[in-house]
Amino acid sequence: MGMNVNKDRIAEVLGQLVSIPSVNPGFPGGMGEEGVADYVSRFFQRLGLERIEQQVEPGRRNVIGILPGSGPGALLLEAHMDTVQTEGMTIDPFGADIRDGRLYGRGACDTKASLASMLVAIETLATRGIVPPVSVHLAAVVDEEITYKGVTAVADEIAAGRLRYDAAIVGEPTRLDIIVAHKGCVRFHIDAVGIACHSSTPHLGANAIEGMLEAIDYLKREAELHYPKAAHPLVGSPTHCVSMIQGGIAPNTVPESCRIMIDRRTVPGEEPMEVWRNMKERVEPLQSSVPGVRYVVREPFLIDYAMEVKVDEPIVGCLQRSRDERADGRRIIGATYGSDASKLVRVGVPAVVFGPGNLEQAHTKDEWVDLDEVATASNIIVQTILTYK
Ligand SMILES: [Zn+2]
Repeated sequence: MGMNVNKDRIAEVLGQLVSIPSVNPGFPGGMGEEGVADYVSRFFQRLGLERIEQQVEPGRRNVIGILPGSGPGALLLEAHMDTVQTEGMTIDPFGADIRDGRLYGRGACDTKASLASMLVAIETLATRGIVPPVSVHLAAVVDEEITYKGVTAVADEIAAGRLRYDAAIVGEPTRLDIIVAHKGCVRFHIDAVGIACHSSTPHLGANAIEGMLEAIDYLKREAELHYPKAAHPLVGSPTHCVSMIQGGIAPNTVPESCRIMIDRRTVPGEEPMEVWRNMKERVEPLQSSVPGVRYVVREPFLIDYAMEVKVDEPIVGCLQRSRDERADGRRIIGATYGSDASKLVRVGVPAVVFGPGNLEQAHTKDEWVDLDEVATASNIIVQTILTYK
């Protein structure tokens, strides 16, 4: 058995993090991450540790705390500070109440539990005067839930050679599973363009909504045909979802336009722009059975890359060994959702996703996390830091 973090301290730090609201400003009522950034900065200051502060936007900064190591290596621990909105919650989102070993509140699970486990891991080593074999940077970043501006700022520094890491652990609720691959996403609109006219003489117009139904149906058949062939062993097949639709302007007008939003999930190896171009090349020439309707596939407005880390990367084995000592029955898996890890992998840092909490409790009306699991995660991180070479 290795070193143990103090469980009461875990509950205290997580409670403090949850009680500081940090809803992403892109959501209704979002006040931003600054309060948590302050907390993290003071946390490191109190330990006498240096930190790098990155101003990402006015009033939004990343804080990177540094625990120096004895060797030249460097490990990055990363967790986002922002949460989703609190609308519709049935508990006090910032109450940080503890019942039956669970701590409740917005962000408790996603992903302040991970941040707390990392902070307490660093604190445990620093207060005992233990110098790990590698330097450890803990990056608390902004804006994971919407546009990844926080991790992007870190990745830019890595790409420019100003920061250097041998590997990274990205904290998200994985139930202590280790995620080594996940899907990416490309989102764009498709427009059906028709001809408006009075609805009493529909044959004089071209109904864009009816035309769009055919495009949706076509995409569904294409998916059944092609997606299974592109399946990845850890994350499964690509998917797409028609996630929004709008069309029509009045009860008595043949609609001139109809727009859908496509959320296309990519698998490792798929290039998002290629996926989009491929769809554009197939959809735009479609001959609608509604005469006069044509299709336009718009440029992507969001791209998030899929990622994959080889299982023989040292960070995978090291984290797995530390984890298996502390928690049975957990696995190495792929995930269908995205994370900050893909942005780090793209600048050459093998980054795995790992943390306490179950994704099923993230973003929910009564979000919670099991405090024992947070402590276990923290112990695993301590062990990983001490044994990573
Ligand atoms: Zn998260």
